[in-house]
Amino acid sequence: MIKILPNCIGCGKCVSICPFGALSLVNGKANVNSACTLCGSCVPNCPVKALQMPPKEEEVKDLSAYKDVWVFVELVNAKGALKIRPVSLELLTKGRKLAAELGQNVCAVIIGADNGAHFAELSSYGASKIYSVQDPAYAQYNTEAYASAMVKLISKYKPAAVFYPSTYTGRDLAPRIAAEMFVGLTADCTGLSVKNGNIVQTRPAFGGNIMADIICPNHRPQMATVRPNVMPKEITAQGSMAQIIEEVVPVSPAASKVRVLKTEKDEVGEVEQLDEAQVIISGGRGLKTKENFEIINNLACVLGGAVGASRAAVDAGWKAKEHQVGQSGVTVKPKLYVACGISGALQHIVGMQDSDIIIAINKDANAPIFNYAKYGIVGDVQQILPKVLEAVKQTKK
Ligand SMILES: Cc1cc2nc3c(=O)[nH]c(=O)nc-3n(C[C@H](O)[C@H](O)[C@H](O)COP(=O)(O)OP(=O)(O)OC[C@H]3O[C@@H](n4cnc5c(N)ncnc54)[C@H](O)[C@@H]3O)c2cc1C
Repeated sequence: MIKILPNCIGCGKCVSICPFGALSLVNGKANVNSACTLCGSCVPNCPVKALQMPPKEEEVKDLSAYKDVWVFVELVNAKGALKIRPVSLELLTKGRKLAAELGQNVCAVIIGADNGAHFAELSSYGASKIYSVQDPAYAQYNTEAYASAMVKLISKYKPAAVFYPSTYTGRDLAPRIAAEMFVGLTADCTGLSVKNGNIVQTRPAFGGNIMADIICPNHRPQMATVRPNVMPKEITAQGSMAQIIEEVVPVSPAASKVRVLKTEKDEVGEVEQLDEAQVIISGGRGLKTKENFEIINNLACVLGGAVGASRAAVDAGWKAKEHQVGQSGVTVKPKLYVACGISGALQHIVGMQDSDIIIAINKDANAPIFNYAKYGIVGDVQQILPKVLEAVKQTKK
């Protein structure tokens, strides 16, 4: 953020100039908030030179001081108990391979109130060290507190790379850490590899039309968020126990600015998180209207699954973007994926083709979706789905 010097006269010129609304007058002085992008447009316009850009970070000269691949472990509340989000285990599995190529360790970083319960699982997925920050104050995710703890750990131990799940938490946390550490962040990666000692971070770019390989050769740590379900998870060190490094990081005073009063799940989470669902009922343009989508919701509910949608259905406003499966949506890997009125465009297929069993319902016998489906029903979804729903309800009785 821009620095306000004591000689500020509170004229307010910078307030009107700032294109991001990051400046305001507080008690007769300029005040800057987190919307500041350091664009610098205010600096030359201050009549008393009371605005200052922060000093540029020095070039990292000795990259060899940075070692090990870190994975931020995300915990979620599943039916009253905290569990590790599977994407963290996917990242550990991948991280172990990358670390082996680099001749380094893969380490898990866990922040919470009762971390010990997760050490064995993290070890079995290959973590050779676990950095644990434990305090009742960390029981609930808090952006400032978690970011501040991560920044302290990263500054102290200097990892070469840090990976975060591309989930709401990871997408919230990682950019703040990147900004505080003055390093880059590749968001929403679908692939990670090693080349010449650097991590190659692969992600779709330009609306998914190309895959971009991004490297960060001059700064450390290299940081990326990675999509769930794009990498396999594998127990690689059954029975072993990682070295546990307990760190005490008092909750930063900044964290007290935010208090979580209540957590409410939106309708996506009502049944289950899409990326972790074992059953997904997905609808496409063939559903024709938002009202017709109701039967998809009902079927998902009866089967204890989640609702997916094609981009066409999302663009039509029948489902929220969070439900979109595919290249520019969520990648899923359920046991059962039912595609209703979805043609099977490649951009949809890449997001669900690894499902164990795919069932397609489409009135066009030549629809490409049937090439990927284990079972296909040719017919009108409006007629078929009510019968399927009724049959499932009967079997549940
Ligand atoms: C860069 C890029 C990224 C994209 N990302 C994604 C993505 O992440 N996810 C995604 O889904 N798409 C994505 N798309 C869009 C994708 O190319 C397709 O346009 C989209 O998947 C089509 O959705 P759909 O199958 O619902 O619609 P359509 O292709 O229009 O298919 C509708 C299907 O419904 C069938 N049908 C119609 N009426 C009935 C009925 N009464 N009963 C049964 N069947 C019926 C039709 O036979 C047809 O097969 C992307 C495109 C681009 C260019």
